[in-house]
Amino acid sequence: MTDHDTSDVLVVGSGLAGLAAALGATRQGDDVTLVTKATRPEGASSWWAQGGIAVSRDDPEQFKDDIVAASDDTADADAVDVLVENANDAVQDVLFETLAVEFDSGDDGPDYTREAAHSEDRILHVDAATGKHIHVPFLNYLDAHDGVEIIDDTAALELIRHEGRVHGAMLESDDDVRPHFAGSVVLATGGIGELYPRTTNPDNATGDGIAMAALAGADVRDMEYVQFHPTACVVDDADSTTGADADVAFLVSEAVRGEGGLLRNGDGERFMPDYHADAELAPRDVVARAVTAEREATGEVRLDVSPVDFADEFPGLADRCAEHGVDYDEGIPVAPAEHFLCGGVAVDDRGRTTLDRLYAVGECSRTGVHGANRLASTSLLEGLVWGLRAGADAAGNDADPIEAPDLLTRDPDLPDRFAREKFHRLRRVMDEQVGVERTPADLNRSLALLRRLKGEVDAYVRTRTSRSLYELRNASVTALLIARHATENTESVGTHNLVADAETPTAD
Ligand SMILES: Cc1cc2nc3c(=O)[nH]c(=O)nc-3n(C[C@H](O)[C@H](O)[C@H](O)COP(=O)(O)OP(=O)(O)OC[C@H]3O[C@@H](n4cnc5c(N)ncnc54)[C@H](O)[C@@H]3O)c2cc1C
Repeated sequence: MTDHDTSDVLVVGSGLAGLAAALGATRQGDDVTLVTKATRPEGASSWWAQGGIAVSRDDPEQFKDDIVAASDDTADADAVDVLVENANDAVQDVLFETLAVEFDSGDDGPDYTREAAHSEDRILHVDAATGKHIHVPFLNYLDAHDGVEIIDDTAALELIRHEGRVHGAMLESDDDVRPHFAGSVVLATGGIGELYPRTTNPDNATGDGIAMAALAGADVRDMEYVQFHPTACVVDDADSTTGADADVAFLVSEAVRGEGGLLRNGDGERFMPDYHADAELAPRDVVARAVTAEREATGEVRLDVSPVDFADEFPGLADRCAEHGVDYDEGIPVAPAEHFLCGGVAVDDRGRTTLDRLYAVGECSRTGVHGANRLASTSLLEGLVWGLRAGADAAGNDADPIEAPDLLTRDPDLPDRFAREKFHRLRRVMDEQVGVERTPADLNRSLALLRRLKGEVDAYVRTRTSRSLYELRNASVTALLIARHATENTESVGTHNLVADAETPTAD
């Protein structure tokens, strides 16, 4: 048997969902190893969450209705029940009592706020930077906890599977690859932002957990439902560890439009009233499509913040404008950016996948809560609720070391240029053919292009094991799943927006 490590529960990913799973498992007395390929807390979408975390207040049934309405009536009612009925206990237990998060409050207690499509004030927040105020104390709490070992800069490359059961994962750290065997594995690897040229996600969101689970034979569902945030501030800096042609500087929260910010096209004209009765406050997918159309027609779209006391009301965003050289008095240049994946690894109400001893939680999972579209501020809550439940359920199994896959003998070298070029191609296909608007012909073309690209990447994977190559492999598997599910779903619903075929340029 090759050198290996073991633990009762292996959690892959240190966002809020992974941390909640680790807490759930260690509370059952299990030893937990939590690995993350990030080197700093910022390497998780959880750290970047701005608006907050929704809870169930006076009217749980209304909260459920809001989730279902936002999903275009496609959310799974049982999953929504699990989320809403466990929301308050999970938040009280973990965020208030265990971590003592200091949410913004007034004399009467927490200052609940409201976001688009919520019908009551039910969102807990800290400044406009809720994520880091939860994520950092949570990491510190578990770091100091005896039963949990957190290992950073360590990537899971592949699951170890035998006869329908998952036994662990192959982990890479510092070019060294070792098997880690566990009684259960919890995937908490977050989103897929790196598959698109513009994203609000941190750099390392390459869809690893979804690809690893799919390659091991787990069911993956609803991958066509990719949510684009309509107002990401765009600047011209190419900046990504994986060679992205990304130009997103930061997310400009819906709250700015809520306070009166107006979208104007390249001719300086306000256009949203022509697209929807709610104008700038229309649903995210409607605004994303309008911004895309106006950028194409007039060259750019800017968010006019002159009706807002911007520096006073949004000091954090004003600072970020300054950091990126954006003069907000001229309007903030914005474009839609990939923000959230509603689908993922199919799980039940305890995060169990279709493979024995494999769990998935958070954005990489598909619980059914979001259906075809997500209600704002429900993702952190989903990660917290399902993380705790999955962690508790995953506990109680012993690691059972078996023969590991043959990755160990492969050459780790890979020309950097290779991954960069392939990622660039992949993003072009996803942007042009599997983006905000999709036509049947484009989707079919994307399938052919992505299959070819995956074939080229697979040829390298057969002989090499570097982290960047596996991220590329995972991205190509995940992109193909999105394109395939989008091609198979002929109904335009939620974030999956099909339009009639038109003459569009191809990506290659
Ligand atoms: C800018 C922004 C603002 C948002 N605002 C809100 C909000 O206000 N409210 C809300 O509810 N939601 C919000 N969201 C969505 C929400 O933040 C995410 O959906 C949620 O945090 C996902 O949590 P997670 O734990 O599943 O994944 P993440 O927090 O993304 O964590 C994923 C982790 O997995 C690790 N990882 C990935 N692959 C591997 C691998 N192969 N091996 C080891 N580690 C790996 C990563 O390094 C990271 O640590 C926002 C998202 C963004 C990007």
